[in-house]
Amino acid sequence: GAGRRLAGFLRGPARRSGRGAVPMRCCAPRSPAWGARGRSAAPVVDFGDPQEAFRSKSSAELLRGLVVLGLCAVGPLVEHNRELLQLGRRVLGQALFERLMKMTFYGQFVAGEDQEAIKPLIRRNRAFGVGAVLDYSVEEDLSPARAERQELALAKLGIATKAESQHWFTGENVGESGTVDLLDWNSLIDSRTKLSKLLLVPNIKTRQLEPLLSHFTEEEELQMKRMLQRMDVLAKRATETGVRLMVDAEQSYFQPAISRLTLEMQRRFNRERAVIFNTHQCYLKEAYDNVSVDVELSRREGWHFGTKLVRGAYMDQERERAAKIGYEDPINPTYEKTNEMYHRCLDYVLEEIKHSRKANVMVATHNEDTVKFTLRRMMELGIHPSEKKVCFGQLLGMCDQITFPLGQAGFPVYKYVPYGPVDEVLPYLSRRAQENRGFMQRANQERDLLWREFKRRLFAGTIFSTNP
Ligand SMILES: Cc1cc2nc3c(=O)[nH]c(=O)nc-3n(C[C@H](O)[C@H](O)[C@H](O)COP(=O)(O)OP(=O)(O)OC[C@H]3O[C@@H](n4cnc5c(N)ncnc54)[C@H](O)[C@@H]3O)c2cc1C
Repeated sequence: GAGRRLAGFLRGPARRSGRGAVPMRCCAPRSPAWGARGRSAAPVVDFGDPQEAFRSKSSAELLRGLVVLGLCAVGPLVEHNRELLQLGRRVLGQALFERLMKMTFYGQFVAGEDQEAIKPLIRRNRAFGVGAVLDYSVEEDLSPARAERQELALAKLGIATKAESQHWFTGENVGESGTVDLLDWNSLIDSRTKLSKLLLVPNIKTRQLEPLLSHFTEEEELQMKRMLQRMDVLAKRATETGVRLMVDAEQSYFQPAISRLTLEMQRRFNRERAVIFNTHQCYLKEAYDNVSVDVELSRREGWHFGTKLVRGAYMDQERERAAKIGYEDPINPTYEKTNEMYHRCLDYVLEEIKHSRKANVMVATHNEDTVKFTLRRMMELGIHPSEKKVCFGQLLGMCDQITFPLGQAGFPVYKYVPYGPVDEVLPYLSRRAQENRGFMQRANQERDLLWREFKRRLFAGTIFSTNP
């Protein structure tokens, strides 16, 4: 559903508008020494200092990180994680199971059950110079009743209001020739337009354009309509409140539709600034083409380009499916090729920022080399962090040694903050466990830093201190 595709992108409201809670800025970010060194020297941000990385964490959180990342290194546990979770729930009972999850995996990777529960964590991170991208991480389609409840919840968070969702666009955008303008967001979300007339896809065999939705039931068409309308409510509200929205990328067999709809939203809402961010996955062979075509379009049409650049999360699934059905693997052949692709796409967007200042990018990665590459290129191209054209993103519970030093050095950096009821975020947790196993070297480095900081506090006698 639209709810999980769109993540609200928050930063300290006190800085922007003076509204909301005053951030507990116990450690003001240092200003990066931009240009003080040679033009090509990368700014110094130390990603290997455990005290700096985990300053915001209690000792109990350090211990939890050690245990959880340690468990992620045990192959059979990760391989059979779904079965083990189900077994755990059956043996322990729901209440005890939830408690155990909150002390471990859920506590590590998920911020809480709802918007209220996640506020303390968001405030604490903000005090250390780290913003939040809220991500309702329920990995399934929502029932209309649930979606309605969620819309109400979003209204409370200040993104959508119930009243707004009642006022849909009116007026079909029929051109002079009597055809509906395919590229018009208003038509897409107008409840009177039949979507099947608007969304056309090429049939490879007949080489004709066919309605995408002709095989959909009335109910499915209605669901699609509701999703578009919810996206519209969210985007308008985001525009009003100065929040940005990020649309996540998924498997390649969904992605063209997601990208297409996101592009329509960008055309409509990114006129003054980048409200809507798309996501580009650099493990795809076609990533550079996708990024450059979208940037070119934004340039020609005069809107603000915004993307979250990731490597991509569904490699195994993509390859399996391609092999099974017998089409070309859409993923780059090696990890090195994906890295090359990431840096090529990133460089293209950075060059665009240098030339027009209308493009925006979130470098969403846990890869230290890529972060260092970005810092160096920003310096070389004269893109100052305070312009906020380039920001960084890591997932909650992972790679604090990258996030917090960046925040402290004054770079715009965000944690992706997943939230939702324990049972419903289990698929998300499975993916995190798998990812941490897949990249042992990084997880090892993180565990080593956690352990060093834990020992330091132990010997310094600050293990129980609230300000270690
Ligand atoms: C803030 C944030 C938001 C995210 N949002 C999304 C999203 O919307 N959609 C999405 O799909 N993912 C998303 N991700 C996950 C992301 O795509 C990666 O799976 C994850 O971040 C690991 O990549 P990395 O760059 O951090 O680390 P690295 O360890 O440097 O890279 C690992 C990645 O490299 C690629 N790779 C590994 N081995 C190979 C190989 N043999 N051949 C080709 N490529 C290979 C894979 O993409 C793998 O995930 C997000 C990540 C972050 C931090």
